[in-house]
Formats: sequence, structure tokens, C-alpha cells
Amino acid sequence: MSITVYPARKIITMNAMQPEASHVAVRDGRVLSVGSLDDAAAWGTYTLDETFKDKVLMPGLIEGHCHLKEGSMWDMHYLGWFDRRDPQGKVWSGLRSMDAVVARLAEVEAQMRADGKPADEPMIAWGFDPIYFGGERMTVDHLDRASTGTNTKRPIVIAHANGHLMNVNSAMLKLAGITRDNEVEGVVKFAADAGANAGEPTGELQEPAAMFLVVRKVGDAGLLAPMTVEGIRSFARLACMQGVTTATDLVNKLTDADCAVLETALGDDAVGIRILPAFQAFHGTHGAALGAEHVKALIPRNTDKLRYGLVKMMLDGSIQGFSARLRWPGHFNGAPNGIWVMAPAQYEADFETYHRAGLLIHTHTNADEASEAAIDAVERVLTRAPRPDHRHTLQHGQMIDAPMFRRMASLGLCANLFANHLWYWGDQHYEMTMGPDRANRLDACGSALAAGVPLAIHSDAPVTPLGPLFTAWCAVNRLTPKGRVLGAAERISVPQALRAITLGAAYTLKLDGEVGSIECGKRADFCVLEDDPLSMDPMALKDVRVWGTVLSGRVFPAHA
Ligand SMILES: [Zn+2]
Repeated sequence: MSITVYPARKIITMNAMQPEASHVAVRDGRVLSVGSLDDAAAWGTYTLDETFKDKVLMPGLIEGHCHLKEGSMWDMHYLGWFDRRDPQGKVWSGLRSMDAVVARLAEVEAQMRADGKPADEPMIAWGFDPIYFGGERMTVDHLDRASTGTNTKRPIVIAHANGHLMNVNSAMLKLAGITRDNEVEGVVKFAADAGANAGEPTGELQEPAAMFLVVRKVGDAGLLAPMTVEGIRSFARLACMQGVTTATDLVNKLTDADCAVLETALGDDAVGIRILPAFQAFHGTHGAALGAEHVKALIPRNTDKLRYGLVKMMLDGSIQGFSARLRWPGHFNGAPNGIWVMAPAQYEADFETYHRAGLLIHTHTNADEASEAAIDAVERVLTRAPRPDHRHTLQHGQMIDAPMFRRMASLGLCANLFANHLWYWGDQHYEMTMGPDRANRLDACGSALAAGVPLAIHSDAPVTPLGPLFTAWCAVNRLTPKGRVLGAAERISVPQALRAITLGAAYTLKLDGEVGSIECGKRADFCVLEDDPLSMDPMALKDVRVWGTVLSGRVFPAHA
């Protein structure tokens, strides 16, 4: 097979044996040699490809917690606080008040009517987060204003940015049959002093059980619509623009249809991404034993670009949605404690089933009571059923403190921390959810590394935008939009952060022997940069320009 040698301005290998190099030789989609031109030439006849001679190469970036939905959210209407770029490059400006949100919905209503859409076709929007509006919650009163006098039949569904909550209008409540008598946990009701509204549902629905009442009626209309081949193509384009070559889809039901879509999309050589879909092992799945058998039966279908075998579990909700489970003293603003998405005892039983089946389990735990419950459960399971090198991982783990990190290290648990929160919700955690003291330990990367916990960091896209170099910037600087530095002592260095978005993430996915560094034998997966992240001001890390990617030796320019 032919050898291609790529000279580069600099190659950051993430391999301690040889941290930097000037040439990389590729054969059969793998790295054959890293070093000088002479090192490469020693392998025999080669073709010199100078595409990257002015570029900086590093290992293809790895997003250990995101969702393929990042590629198809833009089929719905964006209502976020921050400006955000869609896959076509259009920047949608952020909405800075409840009135601005209602106004955009009214525009969408007018557009839907102009387009001749049926009056009862659902309107679905995403990215909303009322925490930025100083505590005012959205209710049916806001949403019914979006369609007053024009159309009162259209169901409106607003997904919050965190994915854990939604708001619906009166028409949607009616369609879903949600009334004051509904007993499902997470169906929020107006307080007793709310006059005529007292005891009626507000339209806010928290966590999967409550949201399912709505999703089962409109699921195919967008929010939880099944992933499509086109959606995965769009995700792959976004990933390429961010230098990502390996990503998770961290909640997937893995039905026959889901698997067919994944296998069709990733079987196409033009789709330049490696995906690890994680089986949804919580609400809506039927029994851990069946789930484990299902995932194990899929593993023989793995390819270079599609890897089954991950399992996603979930304990609590979202901190900024006030649905996460906190230890004493609870929320800084006095809000009640959050929701167990899965009861800890059930979690432990199901975790043991998947663990005994030999599968790799990633568990969502946002606040500290949930993380502690997971650590307690894992400790008991590992005592009953020891398994070397399991690499089970806590996802988000935003309020884990040093004692918990030390327990995690001794149990072999990995942490994938949600560093993007430091920017996107850092001020809200300081002012409302955690208060000025505990906000300092939000996504405590420094403590995780000090305790020896294998560390990755993530975006949870589409909760926040996909972009590991931005995520690394968050972990390095810990800066908030209002200029606070949350817990300066928890900052990590640029090399540590670059490791967390390459080898660190690969380790949590059991792929570190295959990707995550540029060294002989590994997949030829590169992130191609215009700038050198190691020789820049750490505050500029988020501005590093990405040229594109290489996946298993195949070149993908981001702006072809
Ligand atoms: Zn997620």
C-alpha cells in the first residue's frame, strides 16, 4: 500500500515519548511514522503531500459528550440567550427578555400561516432558558400571547436549552390531556395564591416522565424525532468545522430504525466522523437485562466509524433548571431540591446488570447528591462484581468535590466534566443556584486531576455549541460573561486541557489505544489548525482557527 508523507508547520502528537514532530507518514488509514522527513522516508517510497505544510496538526478532537441532534436542531426555531451560528453560517441573535421570546414566536406563527401550514401543526422551538431573566418562569400566559387573536389551536412546545425541561401553551396542554388532576412528577402547577390559575398546570414540564406526556403527541414533529441520515451529515459538517473526528451520541434508543440510519450515514465515505452511540438505559426502555442483551448483540456490527457498546444512565436533572439533586445546603436561592430521573436503588440494580454484561456505562449526574449516589452505588457493585479497567464514567459531575474525586480515583471511575457551564451559566450558578462559595468548585478540573481521576471535558451539544477548543478555553480560564473567574485554583493548563479533549476523552471511551494521539499504529485522525494553541495566549484558545480534519487518512476541509 502507498505511503503519504505530510509535512506540517508543527505536529502536536500528545505522545509524551515524542511531543512534537515535523512530518507524519500515513499508510492504510493509520499513522506509520511520526518525526522528521528522514524518519518517514526510512519506510520506503512515499508521496509527499504539502497540503498541511503551513498548518498545525494535532490529534483529531474527541467530544465525549454530545448528541447527533446538534446537526438537526436548526429544523426548529432557536430561542437562546446567546447568539448562535447555524450550520449554514447564519448567526441568530440571542433573545434577552421574555417579551423578545414571545415576539419571535409570534413571528414564527405569522410565517407558518404565510406558508399555509395547518392551524393545528405544532410549533417547536429550542434553546430557551428562563434563568437569564432573573427568575421569572415562563407559563401558558406567555405562550398563549404568541398566538392571541391569530391562532389558538396551534400547539407550541418550547424545549429548554438544558434538554430537561419544556414549556407548552394551552393548546398543547389540552392536546396532551394535562389538567390540574395530573399526578405525574414534574408537571408544574400554579401556586395557591395565583387567583383563577391556582392549581392549574403552568405549562412547564420537568424531566422525561412529565415531558413524555407531550412528546408522545408531537414526537415526530421535531423534538424527539428520530435521527435522519441528513441530520448526521449536518452533524459531521459541524464537527469538521470544530476539528472533531470522534464524537458520542450520548442518548440513543438504538431501535432497528435508529441503527439503520447510523449505518447508512456512517457507511458513506463522504461522512467524516466516527460515532459512538450510547444506549438509553433509563426512562422508556424495558428492563436492564433486555437492554444489555440488545447492546451486546449490536457490537459485532461495529465498523471503523460506528461503535456500539456504550450505555447511558441518568440520575438527576439540570442545575440551572433546578431539577438536579443537591446535597445540603441545597439551592442558594431557596428553590426546592430537584428530581431523581431514576431512583438510586433502581440505578444500582440496573447499573449492576449492564456492568456484569461487560458494557461501558456513562452516568449523567449533575449536582453533588446525584454524584455521591452514583459513587456509592458503583462502590457496592464493584465490591460484589469486581471488573478490572471498567472505565465507567460520571458525565457532567459539575459539583463533585475533592473527597468525591478521591473516591472516584480509587474506584477507577472517570470524569467527563461540563466545562462549558463555566461560561454559559457561571454567573447564574454564582448568583442563583450554588451561590458565591460553591460556584468556585463548578466543574473542578483541577481537583479531578489532582486526585488522579482520568479527565475529559465536554459541550453536551446541542445544550451548548460543539467546539472542544472552546471547551478547553473554559477549563483553562474559568471566566464568566460578567467577568468573574470561578475558582481560579481549579484552572488547568493548556496542555492539560488539550489532553482532556483528545486522549482524555478517548480514555473514557476505551479508544485511547486507537485514537487521541498521533503515534505509530493509531488511526490517522488529525485536527488541522491554522494557529498553534501551545504558543498563544491561553485567553485566545477559543479563537484558534480550524482548517478541517483528517479521518483515517481521508482529508476533510471544513470550508471546501
Ligand atoms: Zn447530554
